[in-house]
Amino acid sequence: MELLKKLGNKFQKPYHELGENMAKNRRKNAQIAVNQLSSIMLRYNEIDLEIVDSAARQLISVGKRHGVRANSEVTRLICRFCKKSLIPAKNARIRINSGRIVTTCIRCNRVYRSKISQR
Ligand SMILES: [Zn+2]
Repeated sequence: MELLKKLGNKFQKPYHELGENMAKNRRKNAQIAVNQLSSIMLRYNEIDLEIVDSAARQLISVGKRHGVRANSEVTRLICRFCKKSLIPAKNARIRINSGRIVTTCIRCNRVYRSKISQR
């Protein structure tokens, strides 16, 4: 929780107030934050849902602000509508329907459909 608060505060401050050096490293710092938040998201089984929700919200805002996005393995765990996590069997229902993965967010009932990748 401490880590998340720290990261949150860092990204709330506009970059011109943080000095030139910070501004230069803007994308790099965003990438570091995305990596850390992604690893939190992927450990959803061991971590409190509240923290995973918080990480999901911050991943969306870092993505919007700095254009650094997490990979698809992580983004499929986020409901973009309620800006919270989409964890299978916890707050997401996953079904297979006519060759597509249908993920339903239990909180807002939004449906995400994706093709099953063929290898
Ligand atoms: Zn939702």
